[in-house]
Amino acid sequence: MNGTDLKILSGMRLEDIEALTDEMGASKYRANQIHKWIYFKSVSEIDEMTDLSKQFREELKAKAKVSNVKIKAKQVSSDGTIKYLIEYPDGECVETVLMRFDNRANLTACVSSQVGCAVNCVFCATGKRGFIRNLTPVEIIEQVLTIQRDTGLKVTNIVFMGQGEPMLNLKNVLVAMDIFNKDFQIGARRITVSTSGIIPKINEFAALQSQSTLAISLHAPNSKIRRQIMPIDNKYPLEELKKALLNYVKITGNRVTIEYILISGLNDTIQCAKELSVLLKDLKCNINLIPYNPIDNGVWKKPSNNSIMKFKCLLEHSGKKVTVRLERGSDIAAACGQLKGRVDDAKLNH
Ligand code: SAH
Ligand code: SF4
Repeated sequence: MNGTDLKILSGMRLEDIEALTDEMGASKYRANQIHKWIYFKSVSEIDEMTDLSKQFREELKAKAKVSNVKIKAKQVSSDGTIKYLIEYPDGECVETVLMRFDNRANLTACVSSQVGCAVNCVFCATGKRGFIRNLTPVEIIEQVLTIQRDTGLKVTNIVFMGQGEPMLNLKNVLVAMDIFNKDFQIGARRITVSTSGIIPKINEFAALQSQSTLAISLHAPNSKIRRQIMPIDNKYPLEELKKALLNYVKITGNRVTIEYILISGLNDTIQCAKELSVLLKDLKCNINLIPYNPIDNGVWKKPSNNSIMKFKCLLEHSGKKVTVRLERGSDIAAACGQLKGRVDDAKLNH
């Protein structure tokens, strides 16, 4: 068997690994050991699976290897955020970000679901690239395994907030979520899927009654403003989106997270805050304000801290929980919306 015919252990479910060990005449116990080395101890090489005999490792190496993705570049921010540029065997790359917060034990991976994105929001660097292709479930989970292999740490939370529109690759995203849940043992509630508002897919997601969090990139209190920055609103208007969200809450009982980028002079006015309060009044939701992160050649600006706080206070009057997203990794272009997934964006420093 040559190198390219080798099976890839990363992304295999326990039953797939059991089929492999069966084929090799080994017990299910061996499959369990291999599964732990992949998802929990996150080794890079079969030789690191030290509780397997040397002979068994040699036999396994003739049939399989751990991974076939590469770290093309890695950047570490002054705040501890790490951005990886990951390369798949076909040469396409995506970015994945690991965020840690000093006061919390959580390690959050921000994963990409597509190479590029077709939705083309004007404020987002990913959208500028257009859509290249969907990622497979294994390509999605390999991003997290890459982080774990590189840092030796176990990721505790997943947010689908990297490149791509997860709802336009829902089938693969759902399989990846299941692997995160069952194989990585990450609780469904610790997984968040963010969408620009693809209504039919939100309905499909609602019907599954998943306990994972649905986050909606709303970014405007009305369609007039929303259409200036999110062309998707022409296809799936805010009014219809609101109905879909009410339906989602009714079916799942879950609270929705509303993401709202604050862009100076565009959607951060007192009038916008009031309109947003009215819009969200009857929706079970938390609101996450995201100060706009400028992208290359962008015309928009981030509001002052003062106006961010004013906007937050006005919304809080409506009784909702409002948080302001901590900016992570902006010095290495790893903050929300800054991911482009190009080799030329990332300097090698490892
Ligand atoms: N496609 C999905 C998920 C990826 S984007 C979505 O749009 O929801 C993750 C979050 O980053 C979204 O809320 C998105 O609107 C936000 N974002 C994109 N560009 C941004 C920018 N320049 N500044 C701040 N947030 C941005
Ligand atoms: Fe795509 Fe999300 Fe960026 Fe919009 S914000 S272009 S949906 S990745």
